Amino acid sequence: MRCLYCHMKMDEELNIMTLFKARHPLCDSCKKALLEKFEGPRCQRCHQVTKKTIAVCGDCQTLIEVYPAVDKIYTFTDYNDAVKMLMHRYKFLKDYAMVEIIGFICDVNLSSYDYVVPIPISKERMRERTYNQALEMIVKLKAKPAIFLETKAKERQSEQGRQSRMARKNPFYLSEDVREKDFTGKSIIIIDDIYTTGVTVHQAADVLKVLNFQNIDVLTFSKA
Ligand SMILES: [Zn+2]
Ligand SMILES: [Zn+2]
Repeated sequence: MRCLYCHMKMDEELNIMTLFKARHPLCDSCKKALLEKFEGPRCQRCHQVTKKTIAVCGDCQTLIEVYPAVDKIYTFTDYNDAVKMLMHRYKFLKDYAMVEIIGFICDVNLSSYDYVVPIPISKERMRERTYNQALEMIVKLKAKPAIFLETKAKERQSEQGRQSRMARKNPFYLSEDVREKDFTGKSIIIIDDIYTTGVTVHQAADVLKVLNFQNIDVLTFSKA
């Protein structure tokens, strides 16, 4: 068996114990590189590294004020060099094996949520990318994607500066079939690949909140 990330052959011991266990798709050094954490104290809400451990960092304070709908934020890796390369391979080189790795690392059970919503991409971007990376993540995590949000935004987020992202207009709107519905008492989680400024997922939550969910959580594979 080869490592999904570096393709190196992995030695494996085959015995009655290993035979029935799900094999880890990564070699030890790739596992270590991808899971390497940035050092330092963190914001307890968004998990970004800060000068000292604080409940809510400055970015979160701003976001809570402008888009107050997000409850909990989960993230699984820091945006280190190995993760950066993995995302590049996944999004731009269309190396679909990367989503296997993402699914393996995001060790989470989404079944406690009533709805699992991917951050949408526009039809135009879908044509050039051929898949929505957030939606594929959901499928890998064995959940059913709920298409509650749509967008017509053309620009690539990664090409925008931090300032313009914070100031941008909300690019999301509700899908037609949920617009008139009421989801009182239901829980929902928004899935995205990377949490950078947090604006994307907070804007998504801001659109969803009119549907009266009991809680709106967020899960991203990586935190920049
Ligand atoms: Zn490897
Ligand atoms: Zn924060």
